[in-house]
Amino acid sequence: MPAPDLMIVTDLDGTLLDHHDYSFDAAVPVLERLRRAGVPVVFCSSKTPSEITALQARTGLVGQAFVAENGAVVVGGGERVLAGPATGDLDRMHTELDRIRDELDLGFSTFSGVTDETVAAWTGLAPDAAAAARQREASEVLLWHAADDDRADAFRQQLAAAGYGLVRGGRFWHVLPAGHDKGAAIRMLLDDHERRTGTVPRTIGLGDGPNDTELLDAVDLAVVVRGHGPAPGPLADDRPERVHRTTAPAPLGWAEGVTHFLRSDR
Ligand SMILES: [Mg+2]
Repeated sequence: MPAPDLMIVTDLDGTLLDHHDYSFDAAVPVLERLRRAGVPVVFCSSKTPSEITALQARTGLVGQAFVAENGAVVVGGGERVLAGPATGDLDRMHTELDRIRDELDLGFSTFSGVTDETVAAWTGLAPDAAAAARQREASEVLLWHAADDDRADAFRQQLAAAGYGLVRGGRFWHVLPAGHDKGAAIRMLLDDHERRTGTVPRTIGLGDGPNDTELLDAVDLAVVVRGHGPAPGPLADDRPERVHRTTAPAPLGWAEGVTHFLRSDR
């Protein structure tokens, strides 16, 4: 039985969800064990709130805290919004992105600038899932053109001057308000937990990619799930007693990583 003041914070794609088919079957027994023990499982992802709440429903985690859009949206337990956009924020971001694209003569496309069908074709998602992926509240996803790589640094500088940060994925890049990342979002959730309960939970975090580095630095115990692309890191504290690297990829690697630390927690 895990300690009651434990909190799990996890990336989704490639960490809890299979890199190829988004399945999570191999993680279900551990998810079920955590649910019975009352341990929160916080999804922390680049996905939108509507994608995350749909996945919460499928995994029996409705009403739990979550972090969406790489930290631009933070929702505490019981659907309390701790960080999110104010009215007009997203419009201003789109205006700035259009301006910078013109000034630097860039060719990128955005999720908001195309249809559900186009996003479905780009991502391999079903059309309804592509629609949920386009329902962004505080960030934008770009399909970057490799021909513009010589202007990537200039793009990042202009975004910073306008008050935005850039998270580079593989094919897709994410633009979000400056100062937001997965680590800052987790600290916000822990502060909220402490304000309400007077205690700070012990955290186990799981991730598989470079944009999980801040997540893995913000937790007590870190699981690097074996991935298919570049790994997270370097980590601020990479001691083997704090960081476990799984042998299996998602979703089996997720179960492996959580049970590794639950076992040593007993
Ligand atoms: Mg991932």
